[in-house]
Amino acid sequence: YLEVIEGSVQFGERQVLKNISLTVEQGELVTLLGPSGCGKSTLLRMIAGLDPLSHGVVKLEGKEIQHLPSRKRQIGMVFQSYALFPTMTVFENIAFGLRIQKLSKEVIEEKVLKILELVEMTLFKDQLVSRLSGGQKQRVALARSLIVEPKLLLLDEPLSALDARIRKQLQLEIRRIQKELGITMIFVTHDQEEAMRISDRIYVLTEGELAQVSTPEGIYTQPKTQFVAEFIGDYN
Ligand code: ATP
Ligand code: MG
Repeated sequence: YLEVIEGSVQFGERQVLKNISLTVEQGELVTLLGPSGCGKSTLLRMIAGLDPLSHGVVKLEGKEIQHLPSRKRQIGMVFQSYALFPTMTVFENIAFGLRIQKLSKEVIEEKVLKILELVEMTLFKDQLVSRLSGGQKQRVALARSLIVEPKLLLLDEPLSALDARIRKQLQLEIRRIQKELGITMIFVTHDQEEAMRISDRIYVLTEGELAQVSTPEGIYTQPKTQFVAEFIGDYN
């Protein structure tokens, strides 16, 4: 479904990603796990076609991302910082992506209400985003990216600004929604426990290279390198 073949990214002299090859199956939730600065965000941006590759290719459904106009990539992104319009209501924020598609008012309303239910924010429909809590904002951000039905949703540490209890709750909800919609996701985190809890498979990244790829159980019971063992070990 998604294929990265020997993807490398270079900033000036510095090679931040070194020949990364990875695959994501349709309907799978894959986590990129690694310490700060290892290149997780760069890898996501590369997959989205935002950072140019110095080597390699990224293919979504067999088509090279770089060759598709951004509108046709159908890749959604959710960030730690929400990136919502604070002076607009929850409804308007979510409807925004649909307005550009020139759908009728009725269709837009129906779609937004459905997605609000999915993220359990129906009661906040007419509330200004600036009045929401962090967890609620992230639900809106998730709804906004889901409503345009992306082929791939990239989430860059979407929960790391939230407190532990809300974070845990949203981890489970993201997983539930991902399964319910059968959506393909790549989830970036530096939090081992979070990765263990939500992923089908985990790619462990260190200093721009992949250290291991496995299921959560596999990474935990059979770490391939000392780095992986120690990094995952921190989780206990
Ligand atoms: P964090 O967990 O802190 O978000 P990360 O794993 O997402 O870290 P990246 O943001 O991908 O890490 O950065 C990887 C490395 O690339 C860092 O050393 C960073 O300084 C460097 N880097 C990222 N973007 C650029 C850029 N536009 N120009 C130069 N260097 C960059
Ligand atoms: Mg990052």
